[in-house]
Amino acid sequence: MVEKMDKIWMDGKLIPWGEANVHILTHTLHYGLGAFEGIRCYKTHDGKSAIFRLREHIDRLFDSAHIGDLQIPYSKKEIAEACKETLRANQLKEGYIRPLIFIGEGVMGVHPGKNPIRVAIITWPWGAYLGEEALEKGIRAKVSSYNRHHVNVMMTKAKISGNYVNSVLAKREVVRMGYDEAVMLDTEGYVSEASGENIFMVKNGVLKTTPLTSVLPGITRDCVITIAKTKRIPLVEERFTRDELYAAHEAFFTGTAAEVTPIREVDDRKIGEGKPGPVTREIQASYFDIVKGRNPDTREWLDYL
Ligand code: PMP
Repeated sequence: MVEKMDKIWMDGKLIPWGEANVHILTHTLHYGLGAFEGIRCYKTHDGKSAIFRLREHIDRLFDSAHIGDLQIPYSKKEIAEACKETLRANQLKEGYIRPLIFIGEGVMGVHPGKNPIRVAIITWPWGAYLGEEALEKGIRAKVSSYNRHHVNVMMTKAKISGNYVNSVLAKREVVRMGYDEAVMLDTEGYVSEASGENIFMVKNGVLKTTPLTSVLPGITRDCVITIAKTKRIPLVEERFTRDELYAAHEAFFTGTAAEVTPIREVDDRKIGEGKPGPVTREIQASYFDIVKGRNPDTREWLDYL
């Protein structure tokens, strides 16, 4: 359960948590065209608080809205400031930020007409998305029977609300079978991403991740690529198959919520030794150093409250 906070930012102002409601005719509720972000704020090592890569998340939010043909009635600066304001109002030093752009009520046809474009920003405390143990020991993943969206069917580069029906179906399918996360194949049968994470594998010391062709351009993915470059870990962005993944020495998921989560099994096959390997460990440790402000080289990724 999401822990209730005091305030939610809605359409330009902070309102009490319990009053952040919408009408049942809210267009997005029926047809799914909305755009959202998932952002984290971390307590830094020096006792301060910083939002991680806020600018990139706001840029992606605006890209998602643009792809979805939604005109956000605020500037990037206003939305970024509102994220900070909401955290402060809730006295949250660490937590998750969820900006949501949605089409309000008005006409009910598929064409949204002149229905208002509304914006909400919600913040709440959120620990490790897949659990602390997942970060430590790794998780068990399963290839879902649901394919990731085809690029001409849904807009795969956008965090559009309705896109996530696909993720919910895949996630429920594999969780019901006792696994932790769903790996999804693209419509040509290659590994693409997970229900809410990008994926990396390691073979003979070389990192491999799927190209951005049909997956969400993950900000954590980008951090991992930067970390790999800095540490001179060879990396290729190339399609791979599920059997290549089975035979990997290491694998992990990346995402704002999931952070860097090792994968210890895929489809009941152990990955490597069935526990987080050295490359995964090194990247995970670097990631946490960065988000917690322990790395001076990436200070510009932190937006202090
Ligand atoms: N793919 C999908 C489908 C996602 O929902 C997410 C989470 N936003 C990601 C990848 C990872 O993106 P990021 O690292 O920017 O959170």
